[in-house]
Amino acid sequence: MPQPKTVRDYIRTIVDFPHEGILFRDVTTLFADPRGFRIAIDQMLHPYAGQPIDRVAGLEARGFILGGAIAHQLSVGFVPIRKKGKLPGAVISEEYHLEYGEAVVEIHHDAIEAGERVLLVDDLLATGGTAAAGIRLIERLGGEISGCAFIVDLPDLGGHARLDAMGMEVHTLCA
Ligand code: 5GP
Repeated sequence: MPQPKTVRDYIRTIVDFPHEGILFRDVTTLFADPRGFRIAIDQMLHPYAGQPIDRVAGLEARGFILGGAIAHQLSVGFVPIRKKGKLPGAVISEEYHLEYGEAVVEIHHDAIEAGERVLLVDDLLATGGTAAAGIRLIERLGGEISGCAFIVDLPDLGGHARLDAMGMEVHTLCA
């Protein structure tokens, strides 16, 4: 009997996107499949069953799709962490390093209350720069990170070890 497809089986790899030499993990094929999307959300939630979580924060842009579904499932609110200049209200900002240059992510200054337990969500963990900046934003507002959930882990790029070193509980579904 054929084995049921795993989350990894729904993700395709695009060669040379967005630059030559990059193998881009395309999760749109996972999101587009009703079974794939459901098992991904269920598996991301599994480690947090029974844990008190007050909010889900998602990193732009694919973290919004995952985070919205996870927040709905947990019956908690969703908070977007966006690239610079996209949020309409007053924000706090964090800069982080990219391969070439710098980037900035922002959160509304009143999006999280002190002491709230926050689950941080994104599609993929590479160097961990984006997630670490998101963690700093949440912690600056007084939030406590309950965990960091990703679909894809690229451990050779160091992000998993980096978040571990920050004391984070990190859960990923596939490499
Ligand atoms: P990091 O900051 O960990 O180096 O990069 C992770 C961020 O870049 C995530 O927000 C993720 O969406 C995006 N990213 C980097 N490489 C890929 C990739 O191959 N596939 C997808 N889907 N996202 C990527």
